Amino acid sequence: MADVEQKDTVIVGGGPGGYVAAIRASELGQKVTLIEKGEPGLGGVCLNVGCVPSKALIAAGHRLQQAKDSSTYGISKTDASIDFAKTQDWKQHKVVDRMTRGVEMLLKKHKVEIIDGEAVMDNDSQLRVMKTGPKQFMDNDNGRVIKWNNLILATGSRPVEIRGFKFDGRVIDSTGGLNLPEIPKEFVVIGGGYIGTELAGAYADLGSHVTILEGTGSILNGFDKDMVKVVEKNLKKKGIDIVTNAMAKSSSQDDKSVTVNYEVDGKEQSLTADYCMVSVGRKPNTDNFGLEMTSVKLDDHGKVVVDKQGKTSVDHIYAIGDIVPGPALAHKAFFEGKTAAGAIAGKNTANDWVGVPAVCFADPELAEVGMNADQAKEKGIEVATAQFPFAGNARAVSLDEPEGFVRFIYTKDKKNVVGAQVVGPEASTLAGELSLIVNCGMNVEDVSLTIHPHPTLNEPIQEAADVALGFPTHI
Ligand code: FAD
Repeated sequence: MADVEQKDTVIVGGGPGGYVAAIRASELGQKVTLIEKGEPGLGGVCLNVGCVPSKALIAAGHRLQQAKDSSTYGISKTDASIDFAKTQDWKQHKVVDRMTRGVEMLLKKHKVEIIDGEAVMDNDSQLRVMKTGPKQFMDNDNGRVIKWNNLILATGSRPVEIRGFKFDGRVIDSTGGLNLPEIPKEFVVIGGGYIGTELAGAYADLGSHVTILEGTGSILNGFDKDMVKVVEKNLKKKGIDIVTNAMAKSSSQDDKSVTVNYEVDGKEQSLTADYCMVSVGRKPNTDNFGLEMTSVKLDDHGKVVVDKQGKTSVDHIYAIGDIVPGPALAHKAFFEGKTAAGAIAGKNTANDWVGVPAVCFADPELAEVGMNADQAKEKGIEVATAQFPFAGNARAVSLDEPEGFVRFIYTKDKKNVVGAQVVGPEASTLAGELSLIVNCGMNVEDVSLTIHPHPTLNEPIQEAADVALGFPTHI
């Protein structure tokens, strides 16, 4: 029987939630132990097989398109081509490895003890760390036994598999989609959520013919329809076929291609492609490390029930990131990590899931924070909306990206901003300012009175506020 090791703050999972919680806990004086099973490893999904490599591929696609055609600027066409092996090598070694090494260095700097291995819960007060996961446990390897003063669970999520599309060979998940050895000639994406749409756009820019099969009536469900329309128009311009109300049924493959069978309006159809990426959602990792041996409560979606500080139903056990309710996003996990570490230190920290910005790095990008008009109305808040188009912004026009708009959703009486949306160039970056406006509870007058630098993509934010006040300048 292994000795029981008593630790102070133990964190399971070294993704955005876990590693940030570790750093903050250490800054607050806790002795921190972080257990990471190594797949995907420190930095979690985000750094290794999510946010970061996907943006690297998107950037590579944009560069290729610009190199191929910048005729708008009077630059004549070139015969630009891409060596995809080099792109993948750059993405892995110069981007992903560099960032994950950075996380390791930060953890060492903060004297976080890192244990390589898979944590398996024994009960409400004890876990084991297995070298290669639960299978070894079954084989009577008892692992290291660890108890804690406080435990933070940050085990993240994994892609959902659908019937008829087992991840194997040419049927791939988003990780497979990021690590393709070649640019597919034909690429089918099942699921037009943010992951599917981002990678569809990246591969279209890199030269693939892409088809998105989306089960509902629209891609990017959740964003307002007029925002999605701007993106759809551009995806179609890239040659992407978007098939909505398409139910994927089955697939078959050989060593060269995969055939995807799907149904639209009761009619069976099929497509043959080099690869089929399934991106229909992610499942919280709450069912694969013995959590059922504890009294930690889960909701109907298999997510851990937590309070505003991330406390679970069991004293001294916290949960953060993709395994708790709210959007599955890295910046939300970062924040929850800090909140939980602060709560353990006795600070008055709290999470607010309404104020989490949602961003999609499609082309153009979309972002929103707070409530949209429908959500506000459902809550009984009387709101109005005001928007300003990038077509009226000198910077967007000079970048040849005049599509899209910034919109505020604000209360009719006091003109307090309860939500903000943007679709257009650098929407992801503009989302930062919009988040500040929503989270600080500013009203449109505050925004209107804030001088924005000219000519920048931020100006439409001030101009949308001017529209709300009835004194627009550039439209
Ligand atoms: P994870 O990142 O999933 O990390 C969990 C970690 O825990 C993993 O390293 C895993 O190995 C470890 N682990 C699990 N179980 C155990 C165990 N039993 N013992 C020890 N270790 C364990 N979000 C954004 O905000 N912006 C984006 O642009 C974005 N793009 C994305 C693109 C793609 C293709 C994907 C797939 C996701 C993207 N996301 C994005 C989502 C983001 O990656 C996740 O929300 C984020 O990684 C969640 O962080 P986490 O800490 O909860 O979990």
